[in-house]
Amino acid sequence: MLIVMKTEATDEQVEEVLKVIRECGFKPHPMPGATRTAIGITGNSGAIDPAHFEYLPGVAEAIRVSKPYKLVGRDLKSDDTVVRVGGSEIGGDEPAIIAGPCAVETRQQTMEIAEIVAATGVKFFRGGAFKPRTSPYSFQGHGEEGLKILSEARDRFGLVIVTEVLDTETADLVERHADVLQVGARNMQNFSLLRRVGQSRKPVMLKRGMSSTLEELLLAAEYIMAEGNYNVILCERGVRTFADHSRNTLDLSIIPAVQNRSHLPIIVDPSHGTGKRHKVMPMARAAIAAGADGIMVEVHNHPELALSDGPQALLPHMFEQLVREVHAIHALISQTEVKVGS
Ligand code: PEP
Ligand code: MN
Repeated sequence: MLIVMKTEATDEQVEEVLKVIRECGFKPHPMPGATRTAIGITGNSGAIDPAHFEYLPGVAEAIRVSKPYKLVGRDLKSDDTVVRVGGSEIGGDEPAIIAGPCAVETRQQTMEIAEIVAATGVKFFRGGAFKPRTSPYSFQGHGEEGLKILSEARDRFGLVIVTEVLDTETADLVERHADVLQVGARNMQNFSLLRRVGQSRKPVMLKRGMSSTLEELLLAAEYIMAEGNYNVILCERGVRTFADHSRNTLDLSIIPAVQNRSHLPIIVDPSHGTGKRHKVMPMARAAIAAGADGIMVEVHNHPELALSDGPQALLPHMFEQLVREVHAIHALISQTEVKVGS
């Protein structure tokens, strides 16, 4: 059920509707829009009778939502969601760039790369302190020590920290240091973790599972929003296919598909999506041209020494070029009037 308030509805009338929803034992999710407020309802096991709400003052209509997701959909909120964090935005007018090493390896490595990233004007810095690794014998990240290094990089360079939360046990710790909580591809359907980050007040970047459909991705985001955290960023990072020329197959066609169904921002990770540094720039260009709200890339100043994902890390000069091209392509496609011919 979705309640659409009248354009002229007062704050008191919205409050009254929220109260009635709570009294019915359900959870209201108010979403103020540019012209009117809509209120999503979750927590009901069966259909709700629209008559409960239709005649309350200020209500324009009560609509049954036919889609499996309610809060991530455009029915509830037609305007795009802009996630604001640390003075920067994802989903706003400018493309967001998130960059940094795969993992926090040493203090020196992290500071050097943070300095390179900050010097380009990029605001979002990534790096894993808890790493999801296929082998239990591979480098697992430095945990709390790594988080402290990331916090230091934020303070020193004024960056916004994006880092992965691997499990519910370490969520409190990661939450204390991170600005944006990353849920990795392998955890996209870890429902207890989704619920936990849904209870956080920090934005969540949700990566698409490597074999998940668009609907599964949106329903994973729905888990987070149903807990009350509406600041969710979706991330396409490639899916498994029969292709063997690439680590994954980066599915850029999901960008317009997401934008059609959901108000949430979508960014693209061409580093994990391709696995090789020479493929990162072309796919980053394509992602921005296809309308992505941003990109996330791995950068390393000594990729030959990297403890994880060295082959896909951009060298500093490649990253600087990428930043220039992302802005140039975005400026070109956001021109409202493009002249064809002379
Ligand atoms: C990462 O971004 O560090 C990562 C592990 O990516 P993914 O979850 O997409 O594999
Ligand atoms: Mn990586």
